[in-house]
Amino acid sequence: MLPRIEHVIEKVKLYNPSSDDKLIQRAYLFSAMAHEGQTRYSGEPYLIHPIAVADILAQLKADDIALVAGLLHDVVEDNHSVNLPEIQKRFGLEVAHIVEGLTKIEEKLPGGERKEWATLRKVILAMAGDIRVILVKLADRLHNLRTMEALPAEKRPAKAKETLEIYAPIAYRLGLGKMKTELEDLSFRYGFPDDYEKLTTALSSKRSYSDGFLEETRVTLEKILSDLQVKGEVKGRTKHLYSIFQKLKRQAIAVEQVYDYMAFRILVGDVRDCYAVLGGIHTLWKPIPGRFKDFIAIPKDNHYRSLHTSVVGANGQPFEIQIRTWQMHAEAENGIAAHWKYKEGRLTKEDEEATNAWLKQLDEIRQGSQSSAEFVQNLRLDLFPKEVYVFTPKGAVMSFPRGATPIDFAYAVHTQIGNRCTGAKINGKLVPLKTQLNSGDRVEIVTSPNGKPSRDWLDSVVTSRAINKIKSWLNQQEKERAIEIGKASLDRECRRLKVHLKEAQESGLLAEVLKKLALADLDVLYAEIGYGKIAARTIARRLVPGSETVQSSITEPRMEPSKGAPIVVRGASDLLTTLAKCCKPIRGDEIVGFISRGKGLVVHRANCKNLQRLAYNPDRILEVAWELPSQAAPTLHDVPVTLHTEDRPGMVASVTKIVSDSKAGIRHIEGVLTGGGEGRIKLILAVRDKSHLSQILRQFSKLAGVVEVRRDIR
Ligand code: MN
Repeated sequence: MLPRIEHVIEKVKLYNPSSDDKLIQRAYLFSAMAHEGQTRYSGEPYLIHPIAVADILAQLKADDIALVAGLLHDVVEDNHSVNLPEIQKRFGLEVAHIVEGLTKIEEKLPGGERKEWATLRKVILAMAGDIRVILVKLADRLHNLRTMEALPAEKRPAKAKETLEIYAPIAYRLGLGKMKTELEDLSFRYGFPDDYEKLTTALSSKRSYSDGFLEETRVTLEKILSDLQVKGEVKGRTKHLYSIFQKLKRQAIAVEQVYDYMAFRILVGDVRDCYAVLGGIHTLWKPIPGRFKDFIAIPKDNHYRSLHTSVVGANGQPFEIQIRTWQMHAEAENGIAAHWKYKEGRLTKEDEEATNAWLKQLDEIRQGSQSSAEFVQNLRLDLFPKEVYVFTPKGAVMSFPRGATPIDFAYAVHTQIGNRCTGAKINGKLVPLKTQLNSGDRVEIVTSPNGKPSRDWLDSVVTSRAINKIKSWLNQQEKERAIEIGKASLDRECRRLKVHLKEAQESGLLAEVLKKLALADLDVLYAEIGYGKIAARTIARRLVPGSETVQSSITEPRMEPSKGAPIVVRGASDLLTTLAKCCKPIRGDEIVGFISRGKGLVVHRANCKNLQRLAYNPDRILEVAWELPSQAAPTLHDVPVTLHTEDRPGMVASVTKIVSDSKAGIRHIEGVLTGGGEGRIKLILAVRDKSHLSQILRQFSKLAGVVEVRRDIR
């Protein structure tokens, strides 16, 4: 549908009856003449664009100067027979200034300055002089994004990114909430098409649930209003896509895990009603701690006023509620435009001081910046106070959320830099990797070919990129270990059963087994064995030539994952684990895991002599911890113990009594006389854990005639 200038003028007359429609008509005709014969990417006449821009400006209740500038904003750039003096002559100095501010810089720039940045600086500076420059620019960008479908796909992301980085935050600073939201959602769609697709699909799959929940909750909220005898309006919605996307990124969570994506807005007559409604809501539903914000008592920098709270509703579904007056709402949607008054392009209302102060701040940024690159950087710093900007050794700038560390930086540079990172220098000084970055820091990463990520890094990174890369490295590592363990286990079982894996491979028997288990290849089989999901023995048996006749058991080779040692291996919970035979650790002992070829993950006591011999290979050492004991079936551990005693009658009987009184078990007991009136009792006890053992050993040592009690470690 072609926008018509008559409609725009009608719209303007509604909020500005004294508008000069002849002037707007003239600007329209001039624009039509200048863009004659030009077309947009879509093939439509170019004139559609300036009219649409004027239409958006009319929605922002812009004045005549801004509307005229909107109609003319592209004429100088696109038609070389039109120049600024002519614009000034026909439409006045103010319009000419705005159009000039919006005209792209085309000439060659000194010192390798980027044209986009130089243009941006020009726009922002012109804006500091006349706020209508940025209004026209925002309207221009909004229409371009709305029609971006027609732009070649490769041109979309850069525009989208610039909008997210500069124009959406400016709209936010000016309190143009509605504009900001639309700019963000369109930029998200064209800048991150895959993520956009995923998110919209995920949300639409929840649609019927959300619709039901929104409707049900809206009814309840209206009931609260009527019980309080407050007149108001309740609106429910899913939050805007880009804000959900940012939350996913910030918390590095998957789309399926988004749960607080629904929000309500309650509009009422006055401030007292806002608080009354809030009270009613908190009486009905539990507020989520830390989520209540009173922007009425303390407005945001951009003058935004509203009450925000998040509560847990029916079915434990959390959602957000914003409560404000209709007036506050109009200001939040259209900011300065809600009480639009200018004097020579400057805002006049006293309560708009904050915006004017910000424009002044822009001027300071300009004065403090040497180049347009620096200007854009400083502007970003101003627009995103929650970010830090740091420099690479080559002087390039990178931005991070507050709380980022050199590890985030390393992964942002390159995955391999992150994975090989062993240290960091900030401003030339070596610092711990968990040091938080500050704006202006020069960051340098020290790497080593032997460097590798560590699990604790996850506690000191904030970017989703770093989190994902570290997790994927750790998973890969775990998988390689599982393959190694699985291969060794299967080899051992095959040797035992005299199966030749190679023959099984050549005869096709192996392929058949893999197919039956729906495993892609041998490595996947090894990994499954290593993770303890399939028993090596079962596979080896299937590989005995001629065994294919016995096929019933092959469908159930998966073991219960809880079988095996009662141990949790931190970060490798699925590995096949066994307790070392040499030091026989029991629950409560300090333990260390060792990746042993052929035996999987073997758990030793931390002070085991054997382990110290093995520990020359730190790659194979894993941190492990005991799993919480299961109440249903406590596991008993076998512990060898030796008692040195005097040769007394009834010694063995006394020892056995202690054991049975303590509800422990005896797996083996033997008494030997060693001569010289001394003897030795060797026992294998079955105990619950270390404290159970200690209690028994204490009783042994109290026994008359016992010289020494020892838990045996090789
Ligand atoms: Mn334009």
